[in-house]
Amino acid sequence: MKTSRRKFLQSSTILASLASVQRLFANNTKPVNKPIVISTWNFGVGANAEAWKILSKGGRALDAVEAGVQVPEGDPKETSVGLGGLPDRDGRVTLDACIMDEFSNCGAVACLEHIVHPISVARKVMEKTPHVLLVGDGALQFALANGFKKENLLTAESEKKWKEWLRKSEYKPIVNIENHDTIGMIALGTDQNLAGACTTSGMAYKMRGRVGDSPIIGAGLFVDNEIGAATSTGLGEEVIRICGSHLVVELMRQGNLPQQACELAVKRIVKNQPGKSKEIQVGFLAVNKNGEIGAYALQKGFTYAVCSNDVPNKIFEAKSFY
Ligand code: ASP
Repeated sequence: MKTSRRKFLQSSTILASLASVQRLFANNTKPVNKPIVISTWNFGVGANAEAWKILSKGGRALDAVEAGVQVPEGDPKETSVGLGGLPDRDGRVTLDACIMDEFSNCGAVACLEHIVHPISVARKVMEKTPHVLLVGDGALQFALANGFKKENLLTAESEKKWKEWLRKSEYKPIVNIENHDTIGMIALGTDQNLAGACTTSGMAYKMRGRVGDSPIIGAGLFVDNEIGAATSTGLGEEVIRICGSHLVVELMRQGNLPQQACELAVKRIVKNQPGKSKEIQVGFLAVNKNGEIGAYALQKGFTYAVCSNDVPNKIFEAKSFY
């Protein structure tokens, strides 16, 4: 009697573990042990290379994305991120950034001036304060109190472009022209944990105080360690209207692959703003827990960089709606 009961228990344990393996495959959640980092635009290549130094050694995805996006932030030739970013219409370089880890911890700064690496200030907000977002003078004060150096971010080149712009003062967000572009980066570590970072100087010649999607958790970036992560670039107002990156992650939660999720989010913008969507650019990138990726944009020309053991840091062009 005892023996048959033990046998019954043994066989039901085996059946239960078989069922959980089946569930794993049915949900398409086959475990992978492959680090991957993806980021927006061509400058993603340099950023990925830096992130990869950390990821390839088994480092934390959070450290990788912070180090990665610091590359364009510190490059004065990149006029849409960090040092050398094109200013607002008053000639002030104001930066937006956010970061999110595998525990849903997140930190952000908006309209921050004089600091080359806003992403690192965002990380400090996440780690050292009970808050998520600091803005303007408060963000600067916090940065200075935490040892960041006050610097002039307006390069001679960006100042020249701003003065040329002032002659007509025409404000029209042009598709893919380098008057805006954000680095959004998402990474999956060897430990299968996700993290993301997003940083920008925002729309060139924007109104003073304007903040786009990039530092808004759920708009410019969202990470859910159970499901996947997403980031965006393009006209931030349109991304905010649909909570873009959060939407992409939720669409993945509903069973969509990252590519389908990015496409559905872009189509939501088209549905909401059919006329306007022809004139503007928005692009999404996504990664799920399997390391599968997605990329889609409103217009042609949205490029992104991928680096993994299989893809040696290469630029791709995303498919687009138009
Ligand atoms: N999303 C950024 C913003 O709206 C700009 C960009 O990525 O082009 O500030």
